[in-house]
Amino acid sequence: MFVQKGLLIVLSGPSGVGKGTVCSVLRKEQSDIVYSVSATTRSPRIGEVEGINYFFKTREAFQQMIQNNELLEWAEYVGNYYGTPRRFVEETIQQGKDIILEIEVQGALKVKQTYPEGIFIFLIPPSLAELKNRIIHRGTENDENLIRRMNAAKEELKMLKYYDYAVVNDEISKAVKRIQAIIEAERLRKERI
Ligand code: 5GP
Repeated sequence: MFVQKGLLIVLSGPSGVGKGTVCSVLRKEQSDIVYSVSATTRSPRIGEVEGINYFFKTREAFQQMIQNNELLEWAEYVGNYYGTPRRFVEETIQQGKDIILEIEVQGALKVKQTYPEGIFIFLIPPSLAELKNRIIHRGTENDENLIRRMNAAKEELKMLKYYDYAVVNDEISKAVKRIQAIIEAERLRKERI
């Protein structure tokens, strides 16, 4: 039987914009979407669980995954590696299920080269000042990392032009609704029927 391939949805945007929070709300509300769990070399934050938030790897293990071509994309971000395990994504869309990747901008652009038919959503902060506030309030970064993350964010915002959709994260619930509307519309595209 012919199975319509699932949608590959990429949710990206600068660090601190709230991608993680928006994605976790979406995850609770929308059980018909599969979530891709990334590999990373960064240390777990309090409350983060292996295999749910990330697969936590040593640098050596991560490099081995790169060499074995196990990653659909990977990027070095603020001194750590992050990457998307390839097989899980490919199997999910082959089974006709929709999958969402919550990843930073360089990685998203690499996915676009492999999967131009993907749906690329860019989450934007209401302003840069607001972005800085959010990173400070999250309390996970020291001063040096805050500056590095803000500099990365300014560069990342220039990449908006490569995306299909821009969603302002002024309020989490509103941003989630906007993303759900995009997914619903994409599922109804006539070429998918
Ligand atoms: P954090 O350390 O705050 O969890 O994540 C830092 C950045 O890495 C965030 O922008 C997050 O979206 C991104 N990220 C998480 N997983 C991946 C991944 O698999 N690939 C890429 N390229 N970025 C990722």
